[in-house]
Amino acid sequence: MANPRQEVRFTKLFINNEFVDARSGKTFSTINPATGKKIADIAEGDKTDVDIAVKAAQRAFARGSEWRVMDASARGRLLHKLADLIQREAIPLANLETLDNGKPFEDSLFDIQCAVDTFRYYAGFADKIHGNTIPVDGNFLSMTRKEPIGVVGQIIPWNYPILMLSWKWAPAIAAGCTIVLKPAEQTPLTALYIAALSKEAGFPAGVLNVVTGFGPTAGGAISSHPDIRKVAFTGSTEVGKLIMEAAAKSNLKKVSLELGGKSPLVVFDDVDIDEAVEIAYNAIFANHGQNCCAGSRTFVHEKIYDQFVRKTVEKVSKRRVGNPFDKGVEQGPQVDDEMFNKVLAYIDFGKKDGAKLEFGGKRLGNEGFFIQPTVFSNVTDEMRIAKDEIFGPVQSILRFRTFEEVIERANRTNYGLAAGILTKNINNALMFAGAIEAGSVWINCYDAVAPQAPFGGYKQSGFGRELGEDGLEPYLETKTIAIKTPCKL
Ligand code: NAD
Repeated sequence: MANPRQEVRFTKLFINNEFVDARSGKTFSTINPATGKKIADIAEGDKTDVDIAVKAAQRAFARGSEWRVMDASARGRLLHKLADLIQREAIPLANLETLDNGKPFEDSLFDIQCAVDTFRYYAGFADKIHGNTIPVDGNFLSMTRKEPIGVVGQIIPWNYPILMLSWKWAPAIAAGCTIVLKPAEQTPLTALYIAALSKEAGFPAGVLNVVTGFGPTAGGAISSHPDIRKVAFTGSTEVGKLIMEAAAKSNLKKVSLELGGKSPLVVFDDVDIDEAVEIAYNAIFANHGQNCCAGSRTFVHEKIYDQFVRKTVEKVSKRRVGNPFDKGVEQGPQVDDEMFNKVLAYIDFGKKDGAKLEFGGKRLGNEGFFIQPTVFSNVTDEMRIAKDEIFGPVQSILRFRTFEEVIERANRTNYGLAAGILTKNINNALMFAGAIEAGSVWINCYDAVAPQAPFGGYKQSGFGRELGEDGLEPYLETKTIAIKTPCKL
């Protein structure tokens, strides 16, 4: 498979602005999912390395340190500088992202632009984080200060490695925190590359640290660390629960969680069917279905159901799956053999549970982790493919009749990350937006995520919000200061 000759320059832990080996000397392989072959050996950090990184982050956050006395506007300029460097390095970064994750090269470039936008959005916020003066009873001047929470731990998944790093770093830096980040073991390359860029941008040593390694060891050391004040996690609901438990049992560090989803997209019978098919297709197949807010339950009104299924199959049959570096390819491999096997197992469950396989359902080729885009019709609520997060290119199309029925069924899930509705009826759209239990609702569109608007989950899709002004809150403490005054001011 022809891939660009992208040199892998950074494979070690990034601590205190230096690349260092893991103390244990151990490494692990990161794999190219398009071929199943090793790309590079990466330092395998564990508890000892996390301890060292936390110490560096504590020094960087110490009272009087360069970072603590830096003007907020200067933090903003550093964020802009990092955004400039990421933009300058977009091609090598996109090469590494596609090599490590398997997503199409154009998608990697798109993610990088979204990451740059996120850094720039929070760059503007750095000197606009402020408290209030409050009219308390008595002779006092009462005011609040928003202070950085301190050393934060951040654990991110493999599906959007660069983008998830930007969602974590940008608000934490704007707030003035120092950071120990663990990228996913499947996709460590771009976080290390961006760490090198952060040094070039001029971040003081210890502000940004990256410890590569595995979840239970390096990740576990972060979530149970006594000197980390807050942990931000994106990943599965199962691991989110472990993070919260570890946070509670160690030092009651603050927790924010962005977890899984089983998001409904509801298509009414008054839509332009071709447009609706297209939106639903992108909602589920974007990023190979490896998307926390994937529209993985497509509810279609019975009046247009058969036509919708037929047109979906026509569209999906034209999807180009293959080498993610080839121009025009829309879908590359799943990220690793574990996800590949999980998705194929769910396709099997779909067949066994009685759904009708309309398209796909098989592995593609005999190298790498490619799966055909797959469509099931006649899916019902109790089937495993309608209940569990598959995290793969598998569309489940369900039939509905009434508004009340579909709201009730759409909400019948433990998740609540996102939801969509396609209709020309404004009343139905607004009633849906009000009644659905999800952190994001998209009307006549899907995946309309923007740095300026908060994103996060209801129910077991997590808590706390990322992006927007709300995204700063998890990284801040509010301090109330009261000053006695001689009279009422
Ligand atoms: P995962 O939960 O297995 O891993 C995520 C991260 O957690 C990785 O860095 C991993 O090393 C680490 N980890 C694993 N076990 C750990 C432990 N015991 N302690 C500490 N850290 C640990 O998830 P994944 O397979 O990488 O990602 C897929 C899941 O993430 C899906 O369920 C998806 O919905 C979810 N996700 C959610 C969002 C969101 O914004 N809500 C975004 C992306 C992915």
